[in-house]
Amino acid sequence: MHNNNNIHKVVVIGGGAAGTFAALSIKEVCPYIEVILIERNHKIGRKLYITGKGRCNLTNTNNPISKIVSNPKFTYSIFSQFTYKDTVSFFESHGLDIIEERGGRMFPKTNKSSDVIDVIYNELIVVLKLLVLFLL
Ligand SMILES: Cc1cc2nc3c(=O)[nH]c(=O)nc-3n(C[C@H](O)[C@H](O)[C@H](O)COP(=O)(O)OP(=O)(O)OC[C@H]3O[C@@H](n4cnc5c(N)ncnc54)[C@H](O)[C@@H]3O)c2cc1C
Repeated sequence: MHNNNNIHKVVVIGGGAAGTFAALSIKEVCPYIEVILIERNHKIGRKLYITGKGRCNLTNTNNPISKIVSNPKFTYSIFSQFTYKDTVSFFESHGLDIIEERGGRMFPKTNKSSDVIDVIYNELIVVLKLLVLFLL
């Protein structure tokens, strides 16, 4: 994040995979910025519970760029800055072991998507003390 000296507050709308990770990344990189996450449901990551048939296939070791059908160049910068190894490292550094299965698919060793959400929830609310507003 560059030239952020004048940014004091960021509001992230949507507590799904993208919003929660964006919120905690902002807070980790710029701890002095106040981050507020607004979620319309009564809990974060609701869709994540059902991913990977309840096991959460949270990343993949294969190169994602080859799967992007239109304008893959747009994603070069993103995928060079944040790879599947960063995802694994994030969760393992928060105590959740990850295993690799057929096709490079990666799951929490516990096979429970709720454990993935618990890591995100704990980091957001307990560790980073982010303000999360639930609209329901
Ligand atoms: C059955 C199923 C299985 C899947 N399995 C996998 C898998 O194994 N691996 C994988 O990588 N992906 C999987 N996916 C895809 C994955 O779930 C999505 O790519 C991912 O959840 C998208 O995250 P997101 O944050 O972009 O959106 P969402 O998870 O949809 O989050 C958006 C959030 O914003 C909130 N919101 C929306 N509008 C507002 C508003 N106006 N105000 C406040 N809050 C708002 C919503 O309530 C929601 O919490 C699966 C999807 C489905 C449906």
